[in-house]
Amino acid sequence: MNDLKLEAKTFFEKIENGVLIGSRCLNCGHMSLPQRYICPECKSDQAELIEFSGKGRLSAFTVIYVPATEMLVAGYDAKNPYMVGIVTLDEGPCISAQIVGMDLSDPHKIAIGTPLHMTIIDRTVGETHKKVLAFEPSEAK
Ligand SMILES: [Zn+2]
Repeated sequence: MNDLKLEAKTFFEKIENGVLIGSRCLNCGHMSLPQRYICPECKSDQAELIEFSGKGRLSAFTVIYVPATEMLVAGYDAKNPYMVGIVTLDEGPCISAQIVGMDLSDPHKIAIGTPLHMTIIDRTVGETHKKVLAFEPSEAK
């Protein structure tokens, strides 16, 4: 085992600083997001930590009108829904995150393939402040 900081804590610490990390297998080149100790493709335990560009495209999404408790507290509800999507990064791996900055009044108009880039949202839940990974459209509207 190498000495990379491959635990989940590192992933979330990096997110707080606006950096999206993962790992690349030194044996077969497979990229994982978040980072993994063991390559899911070839089972190698030799990996390097990498930084993703944070750019990608919308691959799938849903608009949520009945929020989970944390999102309800954050101000979302049926009249103020939010969007969660699967983003395929330019480097290949996919990640699920909230998508902000999209017009949700008619979800049918949201295009699969829309270019997105990562952003970090400050969210307050009760007494807790945290930084959350999200994506927003790359093209000016
Ligand atoms: Zn591998």
